[in-house]
Amino acid sequence: MRYSKLPKENFEAFFKSLEKWGAVYGPVKRGRIYSFEKIKDPNEMSLNYTRTMIPPKKFFVKPRERILRLKDGEWVEECDEEKKVIFGVHSCDINALLILDKVYLSYPEDPLYKRRRENSLIIGISCMPDELCFCKSLGTDFAMHGFDLFLHELPDGWLVRTGSVKGHEIIWRSRELLQEPNEADLENFRKFEDRRIKSFKKELDAQGIADLFDLAYNSDVWKKYEELCLGCGNCNMVCPTCRCYEVCDLWTSPYEAERVRRYDSCFMETHGLVAGGHNFRATRLDRFRNRYYCKSYFDPQAGFNCVGCGRCDEFCPAGIEHVKVLYEIARGRSYNVPILQRKSA
Ligand code: SF4
Ligand code: SF4
Repeated sequence: MRYSKLPKENFEAFFKSLEKWGAVYGPVKRGRIYSFEKIKDPNEMSLNYTRTMIPPKKFFVKPRERILRLKDGEWVEECDEEKKVIFGVHSCDINALLILDKVYLSYPEDPLYKRRRENSLIIGISCMPDELCFCKSLGTDFAMHGFDLFLHELPDGWLVRTGSVKGHEIIWRSRELLQEPNEADLENFRKFEDRRIKSFKKELDAQGIADLFDLAYNSDVWKKYEELCLGCGNCNMVCPTCRCYEVCDLWTSPYEAERVRRYDSCFMETHGLVAGGHNFRATRLDRFRNRYYCKSYFDPQAGFNCVGCGRCDEFCPAGIEHVKVLYEIARGRSYNVPILQRKSA
């Protein structure tokens, strides 16, 4: 891994140099939430954000998009070709994109996803956990792969890790803005990391959780959550690793049509509905349980299907906490964490 230092006074010039690569998107504050949006001035960004409501997944699989258009009897592929720099991505979201890569880039590859991944530069940024983050328990609090550059905060600038050939090219083109880090910078980096690791308040003992789940299929705890859950699907919409979508063809005129792909939610009653009217997840209990089995399924290569970002906790209107459910189900006992203090506007 190559390390460089970006002094604070060169940050703006570095940001401007990225615009030569593509349109820059970064985290901005909108009322109570953060969101990745197109940025013109680096001062628009809130780099000390906690989490965006919609994860960076939206750049690669859009919530709703036309993927084909029927014109003059031919289906024509639709894909934006915009080159993008996604600035300020947290480690958990970088690791989530690696999980999505395993889905969308395995045979048969999704050509839209692939092209967008190739046309994007990912610039990570270090962060401090809040009371909802449990990424450390899942090993996703630090990114070793999946980014082009990664910025770690220093008192007088940023320590920059280079993670790809594209990242090396950016560093080379901006070399007059960068310095070699000295021993004090590396010590600051180590101290920041030490502080960050000790700041986690929420932990999940993930050891053997997939096996413990097998024993809990008929647990009464599912019934309790069936009553609490509103079935709104918010947790799916904000999750960086959820990837269910539906595809439908819509007529736009007597001779033209479009094929639309949009996010789907396993909490919707129609999600398990198949031809003939059979629904293989007919009750809310079935659907609630399904999500937890899906997230806790352990793949030795990809790990869990959850990166511990805390979004599903923050945006669940019923106040359901992911880690609390996992403990209650897997261990068969309650998990005594205080009910989360929701942030006020
Ligand atoms: S399940 Fe919840 S905590 Fe895990 S990745 Fe999805 S939104 Fe984040
Ligand atoms: S966000 Fe909460 S209430 Fe809505 S479906 Fe998910 S668990 Fe249920």
